[in-house]
Amino acid sequence: MTEKLPVLIVGAGPTGLTMALELNRYGIPVRIIDKQIKPVVHSNALAVQPRTLYVWNDMGLLPEALSLGLKIKGLNLYSKAKKLARINLDLLEGNMHFVFRFISTRNRKHNDQAFTRKKYNC
Ligand SMILES: Cc1cc2nc3c(=O)[nH]c(=O)nc-3n(C[C@H](O)[C@H](O)[C@H](O)COP(=O)(O)OP(=O)(O)OC[C@H]3O[C@@H](n4cnc5c(N)ncnc54)[C@H](O)[C@@H]3O)c2cc1C
Repeated sequence: MTEKLPVLIVGAGPTGLTMALELNRYGIPVRIIDKQIKPVVHSNALAVQPRTLYVWNDMGLLPEALSLGLKIKGLNLYSKAKKLARINLDLLEGNMHFVFRFISTRNRKHNDQAFTRKKYNC
């Protein structure tokens, strides 16, 4: 009985897909199921926070991810065309002084393919 059964991952959101990529990186086969039949149309990932970027860095995904989007280095808050405040993300600790935004959710298919192509063959 040396057959490797795939790990069953229930849910193809960011948590499930990250788990799948990590298991795959260590040669462990996975099977992913989700109760949704189709991928979501609108992305919830408007901005990716530095902590996630550190994880992507550990996974070897960061350079390719950054090539597909924008580094947001600050946020300006407006009310009725009047600038109220600026949040300067340069002040964040660590070496990721930005949040990240994929350029367009219209590129989502391309982004997904680029990510899955990267290293893991899954
Ligand atoms: C409007 C909105 C905007 C957001 N914007 C951002 C943002 O800009 N940046 C950011 O970092 N985060 C953002 N988030 C948060 C982000 O979407 C969540 O943190 C993230 O989706 C959580 O991932 P998850 O995989 O744990 O759960 P989910 O994304 O909820 O995925 C769970 C998956 O499991 C499936 N599932 C559940 N139960 C079952 C079952 N019994 N059987 C089979 N499948 C099942 C679901 O269909 C789903 O696909 C936003 C969230 C919302 C709602």
